[in-house]
Amino acid sequence: MVASVTAEAEYNGPRRSVTILGSTGSIGCSTVDLVSRHPERFRVEALAAYSNVELLARQALALRPRLVAVADPRAGTVLKEALSGTGIVVAVGAEAVVEAALRPAEWVMAAIVGAAGLRPTLAAVGRGAIVALANKESLVCAGDLVMASVRNNGATLLPVDSEHSAIFQVFDPAKLDQVEKIVLTASGGPFRTRDRQAMASVTPAEAVAHPNWSMGAKISVDSATMMNKGLELIEAHHLFRLPEERIEILVHPQSVIHSMVAYSDGSVLAQMGSPDMRTPIAFALGWPERIVAPVLRLDLAAIGSLTFERPDPVRFPSLRLARQALRNGGAAPAVFNAANEVAVQKFLSGAIGFLDIAEIVERTLGLVSGGAPANLEEVLEMDALARRVADSLVGTAIAAR
Ligand code: NAD
Ligand code: MG
Repeated sequence: MVASVTAEAEYNGPRRSVTILGSTGSIGCSTVDLVSRHPERFRVEALAAYSNVELLARQALALRPRLVAVADPRAGTVLKEALSGTGIVVAVGAEAVVEAALRPAEWVMAAIVGAAGLRPTLAAVGRGAIVALANKESLVCAGDLVMASVRNNGATLLPVDSEHSAIFQVFDPAKLDQVEKIVLTASGGPFRTRDRQAMASVTPAEAVAHPNWSMGAKISVDSATMMNKGLELIEAHHLFRLPEERIEILVHPQSVIHSMVAYSDGSVLAQMGSPDMRTPIAFALGWPERIVAPVLRLDLAAIGSLTFERPDPVRFPSLRLARQALRNGGAAPAVFNAANEVAVQKFLSGAIGFLDIAEIVERTLGLVSGGAPANLEEVLEMDALARRVADSLVGTAIAAR
């Protein structure tokens, strides 16, 4: 193991005010960790999460934000008690999370999981903040709206997903015509080498045990189905303005190369690092500077070899479904995302099998279609419709097994 933290020269600049949406999650906790290590650089404006009041209260007592928002109405009383007498304002309900996003923090971490993150993300973008985007689902279900709002409101969107952070670090948007393609790397997840028959009976516990990354339950299942890479393909399309056919997926089990950009002269630029989300989060937190992150330093000699494979389209149909959703356009990406969210929850609760996830997504895509949503309300309507349809397919997915 190689020593981790290197000392940073004394920092005397202004403090950046930050808000963390989804602060109790995997990305949220890593962000809290980095912010806590740099009190000279950051001050916390607001924290928001769904229901883990115990952790939220601990974070609030340590970071002293002005506002703490908890989405679950049942959690409000306990949080208010835990923070009484501190001067920290406690707000409750889904609107409170949007209020947190609207607070005048210069920088906002959007780390709520799923389409639930869309409204707060749009709220932060709409007031022209620097938004560090972990919540890929909001770009998948409303990419055109989010990107238009970024442009219209002078916001800055910084990708936090490790692949998109990697590309952002080696991508020159002014030379878009000289970019041949981007290559998103994928670990392949815990079932990279399992045959389809064995996949049929994997348990939620096996699916969330990712070989390289420690993450929330939803994205862990998405990694196991490779739906995560499908979502990332759509995310990359919006962030880097490239058509689907110029975005390649490459399985790289060691998760050392986080993604690459191939230029017209044959050069391929990659970003590498240990698989620790604190590196891409630190990149976004410090941007445009770099700040010290306490991650394991990359030791390529110890790793020895890096390997690559093409993804298997038969065992991982989710990549084909994502490409299809992106090519179909209109409401298809929102339907794709919503159906997947429902299917993942059903799999985690034991209601359906692992292979049913992609099947429910494919069937929902076949049943629900529509034009491009023109505004947030239309996205949410499509999202709700696709959820109802996906939900109704759950019984039939079991019957088909
Ligand atoms: P997680 O499940 O660990 O955390 C989710 C957070 O969102 C929690 O704080 C939860 O309280 C909050 N939340 C959920 N629903 C909410 C609601 N309705 N209102 C307010 N808050 C709500 O998830 P995670 O792994 O941290 O992932 C967060 C996002 O980042 C996801 O979109 C994921 O795809 C993306 N991402 C995660 C990783 C990772 O390593 N974990 C890597 C890349 C991208
Ligand atoms: Mg990723």
